[in-house]
Amino acid sequence: MTTTRALIALLAAALPLGGCVTTINTNGATGYSDARPAQVAQTAAPGKAKNVILFIGDGMGISTITAARIYEAQKRGETGEENTLSFEKFPNVALVKTYNTNAQVPDSAGTATAMHSGVKTRIGVLGIGPEAEKGVCKDALAHPLPLLGEEVKQRGLALGIVTTTRLTHATPASVVTRSADRDWEADSNIPADQQAQGCKDIALQFAEGQFDVALGGGTSVFYGKDKNRAGRRIDASADLPAQWAAQNGGTVVKTAAELAAAPMDRPVLGLFNPSHLTFMADRKPDSPEPTLTDMTAQAIARLKSDPDGYYLMVEGGRIDHAHHAGQAGYALEEAVEFARAVQYAVENTDPKDTLIMVTADHSHVFTIAGYPQRGNDILGLVVPPAGRGEDGGDGTSPVLAADGKPYTTLGYANGPGGLTVKRAAADDDHDHGRPMPETGIKARQQALVPLGSETHGGEDVALFATGPGAERARGVMEQNVIYAIIRRALGWEK
Ligand SMILES: [Mg+2]
Ligand SMILES: [Zn+2]
Repeated sequence: MTTTRALIALLAAALPLGGCVTTINTNGATGYSDARPAQVAQTAAPGKAKNVILFIGDGMGISTITAARIYEAQKRGETGEENTLSFEKFPNVALVKTYNTNAQVPDSAGTATAMHSGVKTRIGVLGIGPEAEKGVCKDALAHPLPLLGEEVKQRGLALGIVTTTRLTHATPASVVTRSADRDWEADSNIPADQQAQGCKDIALQFAEGQFDVALGGGTSVFYGKDKNRAGRRIDASADLPAQWAAQNGGTVVKTAAELAAAPMDRPVLGLFNPSHLTFMADRKPDSPEPTLTDMTAQAIARLKSDPDGYYLMVEGGRIDHAHHAGQAGYALEEAVEFARAVQYAVENTDPKDTLIMVTADHSHVFTIAGYPQRGNDILGLVVPPAGRGEDGGDGTSPVLAADGKPYTTLGYANGPGGLTVKRAAADDDHDHGRPMPETGIKARQQALVPLGSETHGGEDVALFATGPGAERARGVMEQNVIYAIIRRALGWEK
């Protein structure tokens, strides 16, 4: 038994991953060989999936998962630590190494490319190999990578893309587009000399591409100035959604109500905000925008009618944005909604034919610290258990730091909460015009290094998997192996 397993592991390690990966980008840019997927864990008879759903919590590192688990339950009046988020019940878990070929701490473009093209690449680029320099159009044209979204359509499956960010933002864009620079979302974002070499902006690639469901924000980059929206430069009357709809017999919708009413048997493109969708923490009860769960439900309802199966990517994209702003409460609200969307998928798909995976593209420099007592408000000050702390602690008073001030359980290693003046108490002085430390949903947590935008973190993220092929999610893996897990689950490679 042991010998057989060892032999299988050896064979797996020796075999190249798959056709796409081995035939493209063999020139070996610096660091690239290290980035090749080692192996996908082998099991005796992994199941074959008809459908695959990949949930990506942008920036949802493990500390975010832990804090969100506590926060979700505390909203129900529970202590929280014992709670389990929807995807934490999945039977298979792995750790994922997220670095880009030229970056120890990665960005969302390089990491999303790893998952949707099977190749690690440089920070800031989409769907192109590590040989290509960021921002250089001719390099991008010379080094295209396969796109999972294109293969899904070529093989006759249905394709869905759902996000809370602009549809043209890095993570959703990675499914079906390539770009020398993730910021080339509209033609107005591409330097004229680069555009002259033939590179298309991401919105245009969406409009010319094929998908069955694409839901998110980013209206502005799809229309010309004449349409009273900021985005496009060359054609002031551009209406890319109309162009896409005409070519695909599709429906374009702008609100949750329009989405619900759109024909079920035609492709749908939903653009619900000029930019990213509204943060859950700012959302009004009568908002015309769908939630991530609403969009997930619509996507599954539409895609499941394809007899050949489907691939659906669902991104909780604003966990990341809230962390960049140093606002943990906002990030946790987004993470809780993300977990709700996963739960919807679990309850509305067949576990025998649908592989569901949940991961993050990268982490953030976000910490859960101090020795707060069990059930302590996760967005509050650190209150230790009774009898603990310098003065014995009464179980209700915040513990004080060396400067005599209280501090919050949640914090950041860097970001907008970085203190540039002497730290003040919650009830007297202010830093940046805001009291410190702040607590509650709108708080901007304190940070060590002052930066305008809090940064990503470089430690591994988690991968949770359930359904046919989920057995391959185990151990510590390179991020581009997720691409192979998807393709193997669908039976596209051995
Ligand atoms: Mg993203
Ligand atoms: Zn980010």
